[in-house]
Amino acid sequence: MVLKKMFINGEWTDSYSGKTYQVLNPATNEKVADVAYGSTEETREAIKAASTAFNPWASLTAKERSVYLTNLYELMIKEKESLAESITLEMGKPIKEARGEVELAAEYLLWNAEEAKRVYGESLPASHASKRLQVIKQPIGPVGAIVPWNFPISMLTRKIGPALAAGCTIVIKPASKTPGSAVRFFELIEQINLPKGVANLVIGSANSIGDELLSNPAIKKITFTGSTSIGKKLISKSSEHVKKVSMELGGHAPFIVFEDADLEEAADGAIISKFRNSGQTCICLNRLFVQTSVKEKFESILVDKVKSLVVGNGMDENTEMGPLVDDAALEKVESHIKDAVQKGAALLTGGKVCEQKGLFYEPTILSNVNSDMDITYDETFGPVAPIYAFETEEEVILAANDTEYGLAAYFYTKDLGRSIRVSEQLEYGIIGVNDAVPTTVQAPFGGWKQSGLGREGGHQGVEEYLETKFLSIKY
Ligand code: NAP
Repeated sequence: MVLKKMFINGEWTDSYSGKTYQVLNPATNEKVADVAYGSTEETREAIKAASTAFNPWASLTAKERSVYLTNLYELMIKEKESLAESITLEMGKPIKEARGEVELAAEYLLWNAEEAKRVYGESLPASHASKRLQVIKQPIGPVGAIVPWNFPISMLTRKIGPALAAGCTIVIKPASKTPGSAVRFFELIEQINLPKGVANLVIGSANSIGDELLSNPAIKKITFTGSTSIGKKLISKSSEHVKKVSMELGGHAPFIVFEDADLEEAADGAIISKFRNSGQTCICLNRLFVQTSVKEKFESILVDKVKSLVVGNGMDENTEMGPLVDDAALEKVESHIKDAVQKGAALLTGGKVCEQKGLFYEPTILSNVNSDMDITYDETFGPVAPIYAFETEEEVILAANDTEYGLAAYFYTKDLGRSIRVSEQLEYGIIGVNDAVPTTVQAPFGGWKQSGLGREGGHQGVEEYLETKFLSIKY
């Protein structure tokens, strides 16, 4: 088995200590790869490379940088299958979902290739006849990026796309569970002949790599996607050098079904939102609010659909839901369900570890859930949908907003007035109205409250990698 290595200054690099570790397939518990395990020194070297590469890269025209990103987009589409396989083998999602992830990931490159050419400044009216006032945007500098395992490729391109478009260079740390897909992506970077040091990949100790990215003054910005708890630590450490940060953190999405909704469509939406990626999605449904008058009917439609979901190894084309990523993830699902049932929730379907080998858990629906249960406030990150009954619009908005998170929220209704009222009152960065799959490259993705800082995608995405400079010119 070929050792997966880091990519520093255009070279494939072993860890300096020679240390390696194994990545296991959560569907089979079999080894997927041996991987180099780096630390502080490798990160320092990568930062040095990113710093040296910065000025030449930033000095290219936007069009020149755009061509690299477009070439990378095209190569990703060509290599969709190998990228998708590497995702599924490492973290278990169904291969069809992995292909979808690669397509979306590639789209972030293409979108940012275009945005590179639309980094505009401003000309301001001056108060003196002999002055001209301008505002220009410049790349912030070398960037440190830390990505999670649940969307290992799309989270990566959501950072590398806008960073490179803006003229920044980058040092990326993938999650330790999913380094292989990042390595496969960097093989494509090598093929497009990106100048040395513009994009670097460091794999290994999260603490040491993270500390170096935060404490090294050459890194001007940190972009992170992951849990709120780690995000807070990074924000706190970033204060030492007052580094700009972008944080895409946890979520606890409410999904509201009003009595006037199309219940079939709402059930299909709830299933996509909840069971895609085995519920390991930051924007996935975590609390399912159903108006009392339609609750029984909706539950019956939903349960029938959930029972027919095919759970299995993600490499099987028929699989609709794969395993959880690791033992800790499985244990958290079990503990949330046990706590809810002990406190009076009704188990409508699921509720057990699957009998097959691997980290599989049955898609689960709980009813009669209330705010005394852990699942109401804690992100499960697994395939369990807790149902809450509600009577009025006012009541459900209060309940939906009763969380420290503010990433995504969904609701189903046919009432136009309600769709406007509820959208405006939900304290979330992303609202899906009769839409369970709102993510798209042309829109800003990000959260309110403790779900994060900054946005990825849209014209806002590239802004995160730019500094503003005001020029007062007197003649
Ligand atoms: P995590 O434990 O916070 O890990 C995310 C990344 O941070 C990984 O690369 C991890 O490395 C690294 N990391 C861990 N400890 C670190 C430290 N002390 N210093 C620097 N880096 C450190 O989160 P996760 O379990 O992978 O991902 C799930 C979470 O991400 C959920 O809460 C989910 O909602 C959130 N998420 C948010 C979004 C969004 O866009 N808002 C998208 C996807 C996921 P190792 O893997 O080596 O530990």
